Amino acid sequence: MTQEFHEANRLTPEGEQKVALVDIDETICFYSGKRRYDLSEPNHENIAKINKLYYLGWKIIYWTARGSVSGKDYRDHTLEQLHSWGCEFHELKTGSEKPHFDLVIDDKAKRIEEL
Ligand SMILES: [Mg+2]
Repeated sequence: MTQEFHEANRLTPEGEQKVALVDIDETICFYSGKRRYDLSEPNHENIAKINKLYYLGWKIIYWTARGSVSGKDYRDHTLEQLHSWGCEFHELKTGSEKPHFDLVIDDKAKRIEEL
């Protein structure tokens, strides 16, 4: 059977909603001691950078590996944190939706400091 191919866009075409996948820990919140999710402290300067993208029309998807190693469900707690920190977003993906990793190599990656 012959597979058919189409020409794919690298980025969302002009005029359509762009999508940003945004990490949570060590991106919009940090730890001053124990690295336990309930002890994470928001960084409002970084949250404001993401909120700015949201208000510019980007689709914001927070994407965290919280729970992917432990198997614990941190979704509700994380949602509460995001809301209480004033984060504007469209979706939250947690647990197995993002595996644990030590390095991301991606042509579209930026550190929060670069925004
Ligand atoms: Mg992180």
